[in-house]
Amino acid sequence: MMSLITATNLTKYYGNMRALDEVSFTISAGSPVALVGPNGAGKTTLFSTLCGYLTADSGTVKILNQVPGDPSLFGRIAALPQDAQLDPRFTVSDQLDLYGQLQGLKRKQAHSETLRVLELVNLSEYASARPHELSHGMRKRICIAQTLLGQPELVLLDEATAGLDPVNAREIRNLVRSLQSQATFILSSHDLVELDDLCDKVLHLNKGKLTAVDRVTETQVATLTLKLKQPATQHHIDAIAPLTGVQSVTLNASGAILVDYHTSKPVDIDLLQLCKAQQWHYKSLVNGKTLEDELFG
Ligand code: ADP
Repeated sequence: MMSLITATNLTKYYGNMRALDEVSFTISAGSPVALVGPNGAGKTTLFSTLCGYLTADSGTVKILNQVPGDPSLFGRIAALPQDAQLDPRFTVSDQLDLYGQLQGLKRKQAHSETLRVLELVNLSEYASARPHELSHGMRKRICIAQTLLGQPELVLLDEATAGLDPVNAREIRNLVRSLQSQATFILSSHDLVELDDLCDKVLHLNKGKLTAVDRVTETQVATLTLKLKQPATQHHIDAIAPLTGVQSVTLNASGAILVDYHTSKPVDIDLLQLCKAQQWHYKSLVNGKTLEDELFG
């Protein structure tokens, strides 16, 4: 398999602070790769180094056999920053056409490229919409479409699911899964569990050090906290417990339902469908435990 990225002993300082510390890894073209680690771990610094926006103080990195920033990589790598926004003044197709033209495509070519990428993200019918007519999740899908303009081989997505509710986050992961034949994706996240079922390979950064490069294979258990408008009871527990992947269901002191599940079998969609089928009045569903349960559970 072709090596997309080979990094050897990459080190980057900001003043005296070592943001990347002898980071070495290899990534081959293929299924999505996760870059995970807590805030401040060095993920953005690593992405910026791969894009050629920052230069490492020592060590080497080659992307598609070139140094980052080499003109021959133009159009072969795309990156989506966490805070990327669509321009509210223009329609979706106008702005994607413009980005295509900035890549050097003629107006007509750029427009057919726009239509191609919109189809890839299943939003063809929104070509003439303006950003405010789209949901948050749809806007994120348009931004991902934007990265695919010009058919890059490598796409870096920085915190692509941050700020999305669990259902939209799952949709983005499914979208990336469906696009893996188009490009090799590297997704950064501060949440290891989130990318666990999507990525075969995990780069785990902590304080600038790469601590793991392979997929965490052992089954992990994560928690979802479901709040209903009505008080939760044993009846709710009994209905949730049989869902596939659920390990245990408990109530916390404030009446929220804690669902422990195997991360290899996410249960969020099944849980929301159950709420609908049972006509439970759903209030919120969040990843993890609430602070109260973390501290006192
Ligand atoms: P992450 O993306 O994992 O949150 P970053 O790469 O943004 O981590 O940051 C890694 C470390 O480098 C953090 O301690 C951060 O405060 C520091 N850092 C990031 N950018 C700069 C900068 N421009 N100047 C000084 N320190 C920085």
